[in-house]
Amino acid sequence: MAIDLEELYRDLHEHPELSFREHRKAAIVAGHLLGLGLAVHEGIGGTGVVGVLENGPGPTVLLRADMDGLPVQEETGLPYASRVRATGPDGNDVPVMHACGHDVHVTALLGAVEVLAGDRNAWSGTLVAVFQPAEERGGGAQAMVEDGLFQRVPVPDVVLGQHVAPFPVGWVGLHAGVAMASPDALTVTLHGVGGHGSRPETTIDPVTMAAATTLRLNSIVSRELAATSPAVLTVGQLHAGTKHNVIPERATLGISVRSFDESVRSTVLAAIGRVVRGEAAASGAVREPDIVQEDHFPVTVNDADATERTRVALRGAFGGQHVIDPGHISGSEDVGNLATAAGAPLVFWFLGGADPQLFAGASNPMAVAAALPSNHSPRFAPVIQPTLTHGVDALVAAAREWLA
Ligand code: ZN
Ligand code: ZN
Repeated sequence: MAIDLEELYRDLHEHPELSFREHRKAAIVAGHLLGLGLAVHEGIGGTGVVGVLENGPGPTVLLRADMDGLPVQEETGLPYASRVRATGPDGNDVPVMHACGHDVHVTALLGAVEVLAGDRNAWSGTLVAVFQPAEERGGGAQAMVEDGLFQRVPVPDVVLGQHVAPFPVGWVGLHAGVAMASPDALTVTLHGVGGHGSRPETTIDPVTMAAATTLRLNSIVSRELAATSPAVLTVGQLHAGTKHNVIPERATLGISVRSFDESVRSTVLAAIGRVVRGEAAASGAVREPDIVQEDHFPVTVNDADATERTRVALRGAFGGQHVIDPGHISGSEDVGNLATAAGAPLVFWFLGGADPQLFAGASNPMAVAAALPSNHSPRFAPVIQPTLTHGVDALVAAAREWLA
């Protein structure tokens, strides 16, 4: 019986799971892959699932979807909105939402496998469908590789994948070369001396230290990098204190950096260290701040030749005017780790997921898109259809281009 993709999507959306905890989703995926007649490998890199369909001689094509949600409180108001809460990696109770659209990726990949498995006379080769854990923390793809992914399943000749984004449904964005930034995540702990809020002169206030540090960090990109050297620095977390009148002992900052080139990256990371230590010293901190590097993975590079070949196939499916080049973007992806480990070219594209009615009559659709809730927003809400159909079509068109 055919998979009801819309129902599957609503179910996955309503039941998001945090990175490396995608147990429910992995079981659902494995069940569908078995039902479609694929050889199924479970538990690779934690919760990773791979389906393999060997269908005669020819190339091996890897299609990849990521499965994890984010610690975000959903505010879409959709009938299938998530109410899920879970224990985060630091032990705190957090809301969970598919705020990045990975539920679209899982559903579309299952739909594409169903199409290809049901049409085996039309192609020849091997299909490898990878459902990856923990893209949001950057470790999922590498965890699968280190758990022997390519000893357990055929090594692909090309790695293909997609990410839903808030531009019009029916559009696909594809850029050859460096397509996405390299991310770094850092946690900074600033040490003060706590005390009574009425007697700040007896303390070293880490709240003031954190505020000054945040402002100064936000000047690094604008004051220390050339206009031709793009990078992003965001302080996404700032935590201190428990009560109005208690000056706390410490404050923590969570910092995200995006860069496209190693020398820019090292300039920014060095500046962060200098600013953090400098502001602590300016506050009279009695202890050096702690700076912990959490996650890092490389830039996402689309192979030039493979991208042009895939672009032709996507133009055939969507029409030339709907296949755009967004340039390189500041988001990040760890899909490149799969391609690097396989020694295969990568082609990764963006799939429009925003309601086409929002763009009716718009002279500049990308300006409309920029005003919509983006990935990671509590209001990010891809329209179910025709996004899922286009997601399936894009994967099938690209895979068929590479399969014999
Ligand atoms: Zn994301
Ligand atoms: Zn994502």
